[in-house]
Amino acid sequence: MVIGKKTSCDRCGSCCMQGGPALHGRDLALVQAGALACEQLVTIRKGELAYQPLCDSPEPVAGEFLKIQGQGGSWCCMFYDEAAGACVIYEQRPMACGLLDCTAPEPLLAITGKDLLTRFDCIDVDDPLLPLVHQHEEEHPCPDMVVVAQKLQTKDSRPVMLEELGVQVNADLDFRHKIAELRQLSVAAEMFYFGRPLFQLLLPLGVRIEKYPEGLRLL
Ligand code: SF4
Ligand code: SF4
Repeated sequence: MVIGKKTSCDRCGSCCMQGGPALHGRDLALVQAGALACEQLVTIRKGELAYQPLCDSPEPVAGEFLKIQGQGGSWCCMFYDEAAGACVIYEQRPMACGLLDCTAPEPLLAITGKDLLTRFDCIDVDDPLLPLVHQHEEEHPCPDMVVVAQKLQTKDSRPVMLEELGVQVNADLDFRHKIAELRQLSVAAEMFYFGRPLFQLLLPLGVRIEKYPEGLRLL
């Protein structure tokens, strides 16, 4: 989204189609009231590359946050009704949505990266999945994707990096499959509890994935 091309918001929907906002502390009330279900949120983990509001290129994530899930395989906010050109949860939309105006970005930029809501704010302390979320973070943290991207771009380091990532990708998937089976977890709930699988994060970096009986292979 390019700042400065418009003089006022014409409700084009481009901001919603480029992705729902990060959630902030005040949005916890929406989760607690059931206006936003955990299965409608995705955890963006520390180390991932993500688009910040009003930026045209992804930046490394310093601390995890929650975002509204996309639709149709894109980041277009799941609550955006393209045919109607409207937000279907307008009255209960997250705080950042209410502040977003690409022609006057200061209010949104003033809260960007501050008081971000995380899955740990939303998961009950007695949720049996909570220890597994911690275990997953310890055993399968998201690698620093800036470093990964650099190594993948260098001819000498790419093969070693792909091999290392292949091990991590398959270990991450094994963990997720076991939990999903054990707890009957939907894919949407998995995205909230464990974030996106590592292999998905590698696709925008030009990594190709091939599926074999023994697991995924990275190319
Ligand atoms: S804030 Fe900007 S991108 Fe969003 S609807 Fe208005 S004009 Fe479109
Ligand atoms: S919640 Fe509504 S206003 Fe916010 S990004 Fe989604 S569709 Fe747009």
